[in-house]
Amino acid sequence: MKTERLYYQDAYLREFAARVVGRTTLGGQTAVALDRTAFYPTGGGQPADIGVLAVAGDPAAAAAVMDVVADDGVIWHVVDRPLAADNLVGAVDWDRRFDHMQQHTGQHVLSQAFIQTHDAETVAFHLGGVACTIDLNRTDLGPEALAAAEVAANAIIDRALAVTPSFVEPEALAALPLRKPPKVTEGIRIVQVAGFDWSPCGGTHVANTAQIGAIKIAGTERRGAELRVTFLCGRRARVDHARLQRLAEGLVVRFTTAQDDLLNAVDRRAAEMQTLRRDLADLEAQWVESTAAALWLAAPVHGALRVVALAVDYPIERARRVAQTLRARPGAVVCLGVRGERPQLICARADDAPVNAGDLLRIAVTAGGGRGGGRPDWAQGGVPTNEGLALALAAALAALPE
Ligand SMILES: [Zn+2]
Repeated sequence: MKTERLYYQDAYLREFAARVVGRTTLGGQTAVALDRTAFYPTGGGQPADIGVLAVAGDPAAAAAVMDVVADDGVIWHVVDRPLAADNLVGAVDWDRRFDHMQQHTGQHVLSQAFIQTHDAETVAFHLGGVACTIDLNRTDLGPEALAAAEVAANAIIDRALAVTPSFVEPEALAALPLRKPPKVTEGIRIVQVAGFDWSPCGGTHVANTAQIGAIKIAGTERRGAELRVTFLCGRRARVDHARLQRLAEGLVVRFTTAQDDLLNAVDRRAAEMQTLRRDLADLEAQWVESTAAALWLAAPVHGALRVVALAVDYPIERARRVAQTLRARPGAVVCLGVRGERPQLICARADDAPVNAGDLLRIAVTAGGGRGGGRPDWAQGGVPTNEGLALALAAALAALPE
């Protein structure tokens, strides 16, 4: 036997009475088949309904309907506990179902709008818990084209056109301007949006387009030869509008400007950042020069060499630049320690200084309990502690030729 699908005749039916005609387990869960049901089973891009099945006359003896599956005309209701009685009453989770009706009818309207505005056909539809998508068979639709389709779709909402499903004999199909061919050969159900769209569909729909509420395209993504369009209808569109409004107001407060000036404010901030970065780079270059000059002036002379050896507290990148600047001076030998959680040591020398910076560094960091190495003119290493760094610097000085 087949289950009578009550939602075919009345998508607004929320409660019904039915008789159990079969019991089984599906994926380890109890499932019951009913002679008639208002629960929609997963199919045609639309998810199953959820809700409650209860024993007739004993509402306390109830089970949650967690999934609904159609199998060869029989509709199985997956429930969270067994129901021994044969006469049950069902209640569909209406918020969820009505949301699905808004999204699904919205999809029919949007798909037809894409045909009429851009000759773009829908090749797939997915009704998700958060977002809905259609896949279009052309990818060259930019923001203006999408906006035009959205305007056309919303104009159909404004006209509050009747949405009527009906079963059509196969021989009558040729007279209908179907948006796509039916996937079944008998029991063909056509959902008509009066004078606008005729589509074979077994889904649940609102009674007229005004109940879709709104259709908003939320984004697109190119997928091979298809364009995936994400859209929101009805309550989902309103919830998303509230989210965007919170976002905009948050930016208004942070930028202390009007919503319409936000983009300019972000551009101004980006330009300021660029100027600041340039200024900072200039200042840092000057700072490196003057720091190197001051260290050079204070450095003791060892014969033909002039030795800069000390520990500093600025970041290693700056210490590197100072050491680079110093080693450009004739006779320079540089041992620059950077204090911190992971103390570092740089040893460098001018091209004319007869010192091997790699050897010098190895002697120094070994004395400080650390490790490191490098080239004859530039070497870098680390020691475990700031005390170790002091020992390393002392060892480097002691190792220099008199
Ligand atoms: Zn449909």
